[in-house]
Amino acid sequence: MFRSLHRKLVLVLVLLIVSVMAVVGTFLINSVTSYHIREFRSQMSSVFTSEFILTLEQNADDHGTLRGMIEAYSASLGIDEYRCFYVLDGRTGAYLSGSDDDYGAKLQLTPNILTAMTGQVGQATETLGEYFDVAVPIRDDSGAVLFVVGVLDDKSELQELNWNLFTILIRAILFGLVVAIFLSFLLSKTITTPVEKLTEQAARIASGDFTSSAQVQSDDEIGILSDTFDEMSVQLETTLRQVEEERNKLDTLFQHMADGMVAFDSEGVLLQYNAAAEDMLDRKLDGNFRYTDVFPEVQVRQEDLAQDGKSIEIDYAAGPRFLKIYFAPIRLGAEGKGLMAVLHDVTEQRKLDDSRREFVANVSHELRTPLTNVRGYAETLMSADDIDRDIQMRFLGVISSEADRMTRIVKDLLTLTRLDYNRMEMHMQPMDLRELGQKAAAAMEGQAAGQGLTLTCTLPEEMPAVLGDAERIQQVIINIITNAIKYNKPQGAITITGGVEGEQVFLRVEDTGIGVPKADLERLFERFYRVDKARSRESGGTGLGLAIAKQIVETHGGHIGFDSEYGKGSVVTLYLPQMKDEAANG
Ligand code: ADP
Repeated sequence: MFRSLHRKLVLVLVLLIVSVMAVVGTFLINSVTSYHIREFRSQMSSVFTSEFILTLEQNADDHGTLRGMIEAYSASLGIDEYRCFYVLDGRTGAYLSGSDDDYGAKLQLTPNILTAMTGQVGQATETLGEYFDVAVPIRDDSGAVLFVVGVLDDKSELQELNWNLFTILIRAILFGLVVAIFLSFLLSKTITTPVEKLTEQAARIASGDFTSSAQVQSDDEIGILSDTFDEMSVQLETTLRQVEEERNKLDTLFQHMADGMVAFDSEGVLLQYNAAAEDMLDRKLDGNFRYTDVFPEVQVRQEDLAQDGKSIEIDYAAGPRFLKIYFAPIRLGAEGKGLMAVLHDVTEQRKLDDSRREFVANVSHELRTPLTNVRGYAETLMSADDIDRDIQMRFLGVISSEADRMTRIVKDLLTLTRLDYNRMEMHMQPMDLRELGQKAAAAMEGQAAGQGLTLTCTLPEEMPAVLGDAERIQQVIINIITNAIKYNKPQGAITITGGVEGEQVFLRVEDTGIGVPKADLERLFERFYRVDKARSRESGGTGLGLAIAKQIVETHGGHIGFDSEYGKGSVVTLYLPQMKDEAANG
C-alpha cells in the first residue's frame, strides 16, 4: 500500500510538472514566433513606406541603383545572415542582385513575389512556412512592373531561438523531476509513514493485540485519524472483552445446566453439547457425530419446525431414563439453519406419576375386597329370613372384621398423609429405647406365646437417651415385633436386642420366620407392598405398616435396616441418633 501510494505521488507530481512545462513551453514558443513576425512586419512597413517606394520608382534605372538604395536601409530592415534582400526582374522574376547572391541564385518565386509581379505589394505571412517575406513592385511610369524588391527571412534565427527555449524547458522539466522525487519522499514521510504505522497497528489489532498505539504525533487529519484509531482500538477491546465474558458466562451456563443441550448445523453435524446431554443419553459425544448417530429413532424435518420459534416436543426413552426432547430451529450465520435439542429428564416425574397411579389403584383394590365382602354378607343376611342364628352371627362377625380392616386401612392412610405433609404432631422428649423395647416386648409376649413363639428381650443395662415421640416409636417397635410374629414359623423365636453403633442407638428384632427373598427386600417399605399378600391379609396386615414406620423413624433422623435370609428369618433394626449431651441435660 505504501509503495503504491508513493508511486502514485511521484506519478502525479511528474505529470503535473510535465504538463505545466508543456503548456508554458507552447505558450512561450508561440509568443516568440508571433513577436518575431510582428517585428518583421513593423520593420518592413517602417522602411517600405509609399514615399520610399515612390523614390525607388523614380530612381529605378537599373537594379544596381535599387540595390544601393535598399542597402542603405539594411540596418532598419534587419538584414543579416538569416535575412536577405533582393532585386528581381519584374517580368520574369529572375534574380538580379541582393544582399546574398548565393541565396539569391536559389531564390524561388514565393507567393508574395508573384503578387508583386502583378503590381501589388506581396506581404502575406505564412506562419507555418519555412520563411516569411515581403515583395514590393517597382513600376515605371506606365505602371508596368520593372523590378520586384523584397526581403526574405528564412526563420533560422527564430528556429534557433525556439530550440534554445525548448532545451531550457527540457532542463527545467528534468530539474522538476528531481524536485518531484524529493517532494514525494517528503510527502511520503508526512503522509505515507503515518498511514504505514496505522496499517501496522490495524494488523496488530487484527491479530488480537490491542495494547499498542500508532503513535502518530500530528495535528492534521492523519493525526486525528490516528487518535480515532486508538480510541476505536480501546472500544473494540472493551467490546470484545464484554462479548468474551458473555460467551464464557453462557458457556458455563450451557455446560452446567441441568437440562441437556445438543446443537447441529444445517448438515446435521454435531456442533455443541453439554455434560448433562451426555449423562442423559448415557454416551460420550464428540464433534464427529451426526444427528442420526445421536437420535437414531427421531426424525425431525426442518420444514416441521415452526418458523415462529416454537419447538417440537418428543418423548424419548434413553435406556432407563425417560426424556422429553424439545427440538427448535437455530440461526447459524446469515443463511444457515441449525437444530437445537433441549433434553429434559422426566424419569423421576414419570416414576412419581407411576407410583401415584399405582397407589390409587392399590387403595381402590384394598378397599374393594372388604367392601365386596361386606356387601355380599349383608345382602345374604337381608335376603334370607330363616338363617340360623349362629350363621347370622358368623356373617355379622365377617362384616364387622371387614369394617375393622377398612377402618385400619383408612387410618393408616390418614397417618401416612399426615406424615407426608408433616401434619403429624410429634412430642419430642428424651426417651430410653431399653424401656420402650421392654414395654413393647411385654405387650406382645402374650400374642407371641399364643402362636407358640418364644419372645426374648435381652437389652443392655444402660442405653443412651434418644430424642423422640415415645408413643410413635413404641408404635414402630410394636409394628416390627408384630411382623416378626406374623411372618414367623411355628415354634419360632423372636429375639430383641439393642446397643450403640457410632452415633446411633439401635433396637434389633430378629426372628426365625419365613424371611424375605432378596429381590423383594428393597421394596418392603413401599406402600401396600407385600411379599405374600394372602398371608398378610389373613393376619390383618394393610401393607402400610413398614411404610409408616419408615416415615416416623426418618422424621426422628433415624432409619430402619431390614436384612433377611429367605426361609430362615429376618433381622429388622431400628436406628435412632443418640441425644446430644446438652439436649439430654436440658
Ligand atoms: P403388612 O401389613 O402386610 O405386614 P408391612 O408394611 O408391615 O405390611 O410389611 C410389608 C411386607 O413385608 C409384609 O407383607 C411382609 O411380606 C414383609 N415382612 C415384614 N416383616 C417381615 C418379617 N419379619 N419376616 C418376613 N416378612 C416380613
